[in-house]
Amino acid sequence: MSLAARKIRLIMQLRQAGVADTAVLRAIEQTPREHFVPEAFADQAYEATTLPIGHGQTLSAPDVVARMTQALRPDTRAKVLEVGSGSGYQAAVLARLSRRVYTVERDRTLLAGAQQRWQDLGLHNITAQAGDGWRGWPGQAPFARIIVTAAAAEIPARLVDQLAEGGVLVVPVGARNQVQELLRITRDATGATHEASLGPVRFVPLIQDDPGGQPGRAAGPSGPSLA
Ligand code: SAH
Repeated sequence: MSLAARKIRLIMQLRQAGVADTAVLRAIEQTPREHFVPEAFADQAYEATTLPIGHGQTLSAPDVVARMTQALRPDTRAKVLEVGSGSGYQAAVLARLSRRVYTVERDRTLLAGAQQRWQDLGLHNITAQAGDGWRGWPGQAPFARIIVTAAAAEIPARLVDQLAEGGVLVVPVGARNQVQELLRITRDATGATHEASLGPVRFVPLIQDDPGGQPGRAAGPSGPSLA
């Protein structure tokens, strides 16, 4: 079966699995997932599976990316923060659904690869920086949408602080090597936050680079921007 046929099959599977947001489905259809995985895995790009992206990291299965993207309630006027750029795939999907995507990645090699892919695809509304995502991106806050694509040991307080009024934060929370809970945290017009569980997920850990400190106090985006 050709990649194009596999992609159509995947979109049908996502629909059947309850992904109803047609803008999200279209963004997934327009984003070549095979471009974001090592060549040896390109033929599996549209299978319902997690794929390795190097440096011990993984790209979530398409249904998880779709569910998380839909849960974020994408808005073409929104400024989005992603934590954990990885291969750059999730940011590429969000770039088609948002005004601008800011993304933070601690691994500079992975980030350089992601930036090359966005450039190859002509996606120019993504700004990336190497650093510790626990800190968010204070210089660009507040964000209307924040998505974390690694499992946080606890709700990242700094990210909640950087959420705009009416904003949505989607984050997997739980211990490493265990099933985590996908949470959606919203901030209403009065500034109060509300939490909802979106079910179990399994992610690689959101690393705390400063083991002695509070997660929120770890060193943040540092050094020259790669953007
Ligand atoms: N969204 C990615 C997949 C992310 S995998 C994609 O679409 O391909 C999780 C990523 O989070 C990894 O690349 C890992 O290096 C990164 N990461 C882990 N801890 C981090 C931290 N504290 N700050 C920034 N990035 C982090």
